[in-house]
Amino acid sequence: MKVVAGNWKMNMNYKEASALFNSLNNRLINDVEVILCPPSIYLSEFSNKLKNVKLAAQNVSSFISGAYTGEVSAQMLKNIGVDYCLIGHSERRALFNETNEVINTKIHLLLENEISPIFCCGESLTDRESGVQNEIIHNQLELGMNGLDLTQLQNCIIAYEPVWAIGTGLTATSDQAQEMHFFIRNYLKKRFQIENEILSQIPILYGGSCNAENASEIFSKNDVNGGLIGGAALKEDTFSSIIQSF
Ligand code: PEP
Repeated sequence: MKVVAGNWKMNMNYKEASALFNSLNNRLINDVEVILCPPSIYLSEFSNKLKNVKLAAQNVSSFISGAYTGEVSAQMLKNIGVDYCLIGHSERRALFNETNEVINTKIHLLLENEISPIFCCGESLTDRESGVQNEIIHNQLELGMNGLDLTQLQNCIIAYEPVWAIGTGLTATSDQAQEMHFFIRNYLKKRFQIENEILSQIPILYGGSCNAENASEIFSKNDVNGGLIGGAALKEDTFSSIIQSF
């Protein structure tokens, strides 16, 4: 499956968000799963109009229900027709103290509610400069996906997002992306004992300053199945040309 997901983060007022959603949603897109991740306040309205795109939440509560002011549960997201949810984004890890254990709890809650996690992992610049990126990703996958079985894994999307490339304009080279995606796929193969055919169907997306200029080079790599796009997802023309970059 080819996937392009646009993470809008906390950007765009209602008018801007509706205009971007409507134009992307009305466009027929062959062969690519296009997932929009708007701020949660827009999800309910957009989900009533879905045609050519899918919706992802940017976050979910780690609690099931109850006295958790400000939180939105996995069941609530499912009730309004959300199919995906970002989990483990580096901004949530760094700014909201999300640990691998919290991420794991959220992944289980999402899967129990039939929402597919888009599980983000990525190393910092210091990690990469010290050459420990594989260990870091291995650890994030091991703890974040703790307790999942193969069927559950088949309902997940993985996004490799090197922290040093997010919002910085520094992109991983296509070879660096391929190398890490291959490492991740190999990890999944061993951990879940998956046959190659099933393994190849698990989408692994690249994220980190991916744009209309570099997307086709990155997407051309064997183990890269698409992208998780931040800044470049906020403009219709750039996001559309990324979608057409396969
Ligand atoms: C992201 O935040 O997931 C991301 C990839 O951002 P950007 O494309 O702006 O680097």
